[in-house]
Amino acid sequence: MEKNQRRLDAGFMSKHFPEVAKIVINMIYNQQGNRTVRRTLNFYPGSYAFFRVDCLSDDCVNGGFEMSGIINSMIRNHSETSNGELGCDDSGPRPDHANIVYEVAIQYAQ
Ligand SMILES: [Zn+2]
Repeated sequence: MEKNQRRLDAGFMSKHFPEVAKIVINMIYNQQGNRTVRRTLNFYPGSYAFFRVDCLSDDCVNGGFEMSGIINSMIRNHSETSNGELGCDDSGPRPDHANIVYEVAIQYAQ
């Protein structure tokens, strides 16, 4: 619920980043001793500019991966690719928080 609201509040990509044609986030989740999951997220001008990705832990409430800062600075610098690793924002007691290895690719319209 609350998350849907935050997504709506974020507004559209076309409004915030009119120069961007497409953003692709490729991620590999690693969850401790458990599983490796690949996920690809695509964002278009009509998508919500909401770049927060969920953790894999079922009980993770406040965690996840905030990609907004990375994406904002890439767009500011007009850079096309970036990669790195992120740990879950929530450093709570759950042992099964995930971390991700990500690769972001941005295509510009202009
Ligand atoms: Zn987590």
